[in-house]
Amino acid sequence: MIPAFLIMILCSKCHKPAITVIRYSGAHLCSQHFVEFVERRVKKDLKKQGKTMNNSRIAVAVSGGKDSIVTLHLLHDLFESRPLVQLYAITVDEGIKGYRDASLEVVQKNCNILGIEHHVISFKDAVGKTMDEIAALHDDLGECSYCGVFRRMCLNTMAKDLGVDKLATGHNLDDMAQSILMNFVNGDMQKLARLGPHERIQPGLIPRVLPVRTIPEKEMMLYAFVKNMKFHNAECPYSTRALRGQFRCIVDDLEYRNPGTRHSIFQSYECIREMLMEKYPPVDLNHCLQCGEPTSQKLCKTCILLERIRRLF
Ligand code: SF4
Ligand SMILES: [Zn+2]
Ligand SMILES: [Zn+2]
Repeated sequence: MIPAFLIMILCSKCHKPAITVIRYSGAHLCSQHFVEFVERRVKKDLKKQGKTMNNSRIAVAVSGGKDSIVTLHLLHDLFESRPLVQLYAITVDEGIKGYRDASLEVVQKNCNILGIEHHVISFKDAVGKTMDEIAALHDDLGECSYCGVFRRMCLNTMAKDLGVDKLATGHNLDDMAQSILMNFVNGDMQKLARLGPHERIQPGLIPRVLPVRTIPEKEMMLYAFVKNMKFHNAECPYSTRALRGQFRCIVDDLEYRNPGTRHSIFQSYECIREMLMEKYPPVDLNHCLQCGEPTSQKLCKTCILLERIRRLF
């Protein structure tokens, strides 16, 4: 349904009723031109992130939220005409009651519609504890510190088991701007240099691609609505403790006052990315002494956190 305040506003391209105003460019777009506007940028940016060979195997990390669902559909549509490109969906079940169980169903439904294999890996199976059990420890470290490390490990493990070449995630432009700013503020230049997409293949680590990194969050939402996609629209109960929330507010406020800020933050990062990667090249990885997974230290982060849990339990 078209919001009343847009009723008389026409698409800048075809004069049909506009469904949105792109504040940072001033364009008004109808649903068809909005969809094309999103898809064109995704296609162009994906090419920039590396060639997709005809026999590529790509896994998409799909939580069930709008970003990962849109990413799954976009990649499916993009590679539909190339039957040798194999797509998989991976969902990590962190074990968060009332939150993840509902989204798993949504992912499965979308995979059924698209004919994509869906694989689930749970914290319970991979590390022996659910996120709810970890949260009950009330560790000062915060739930997200555990969740982020375990989720990365689960995704990498499942992607390796599936033998894929790339792992696609649904990070949008807002996520990118927040991460860039957060790493600057924390002075973590090494982490900044390692933000995906990954060009160098590290043994034991599946490189990431970020198909929707140039699409703002609101456009992801609108795209999902226009295309009538089913997604899981709920907030993780532990998200209130996430540090990222502060940076979300800062970026939202900057964008509201100066439309285009997210793009500027992202473009500034793109300008210095090569220099950062030269100064902080990927280090040669060892095998974790405990589990054998790749790590720059003696023990990987998963094993360090598991040891911490053992002490707290
Ligand atoms: S908000 Fe934190 S605990 Fe919840 S899913 Fe995200 S990283 Fe995990
Ligand atoms: Zn139009
Ligand atoms: Zn380990």
